[in-house]
Parts: sequence; C-alpha cells; structure tokens
Amino acid sequence: MISKKLEQAINEQINKELFSEYLYLSMASYCSSIGLDGFENFFLVQVEEERFHAMKMYKFLNERGGRVIMKAIDQPETQFESALQVLEKTYEHEQYVSKLINELMDLAIAENDHAAKSFLNWFVDEQVEEEASMENILNKLKLIGGEGNGLLMLDKELAARVFTPPVK
Ligand code: MG
Repeated sequence: MISKKLEQAINEQINKELFSEYLYLSMASYCSSIGLDGFENFFLVQVEEERFHAMKMYKFLNERGGRVIMKAIDQPETQFESALQVLEKTYEHEQYVSKLINELMDLAIAENDHAAKSFLNWFVDEQVEEEASMENILNKLKLIGGEGNGLLMLDKELAARVFTPPVK
C-alpha cells in the first residue's frame, strides 16, 4: 500500500505527463502549420511517449492500492516563433520534468518506499534520454542557424522517428 503523500505526488506527476503530451501536441500542430512535417512527426511520437509515461504511473498507482484522480490539464502555449524556439522550450521543459522526477524520488526515499524507488528509477533513466534527444536536435538547429536547406534536411531526418513502446 502506497502512502497518501506519495499517492498525491504521483497523481500530480500523471497530470504533468498529460500536460507534456498536450504541450507536444500543440508543438506538433505548430510545426505542421509551417510546413515542417518531420518535426510534426517527431512531436507526435513524443505525444505517445508522454501518454506512455502517464499510463505507466497510472498502472503503478492502481497496483499499489492508490487511486488516480484526474485533474484539469493546463493550457499549453500555442504560439511559437520558429522550430529553433520550439526546441529551446522543449529542452527547457524536459529539464523541468527531470527536476520533478528527482523530487518524486526524494519523496520515495523519505517515505522509505522501496517499490516506488525501483519504479521511479526507470523515469530517472528515461529523463536522461529525453533531455539528450531534445538537446541533440536543438544543437543541430543551432548549427544550421534554424533555417534553409539544413532545416529541410533535419526535417526529413525527423520524419523517420517511430514510437516503440519500451518492453517494461
Ligand atoms: Mg514524460
């Protein structure tokens, strides 16, 4: 049985993962509107990843005798200036999510909940990947100055991304 405190904190995080899903959907739509279908695809795959994160926590909370409470999801930004700006925001957002996951882990340690610690380890590792993949694209965008042929080539590269649900 999970503690009330941890139950509440994981509920908050489910809401944040769903917000991430919503934010990336907003970014996908923006990218589509400026003709960057590859970037749109990249963000649509990210949407599925965020849903996967939320559902992983949903299942864990249910298994541990907790109750998932759906809350309102904040409205994400809808206006962006460029692909470069979108990726800057994305990288920033993933760093923020890493901070949230670390705080969740701190709480699991304080509550001495070993099952939660083991569960959250997956998210700690996942955030390393999330930050790295966003930083990678951001760096490429900076290299090409965020425009021209380089941008179209990067767009083509991102069109190939597919969602593969992790085994566990
Ligand atoms: Mg996430």
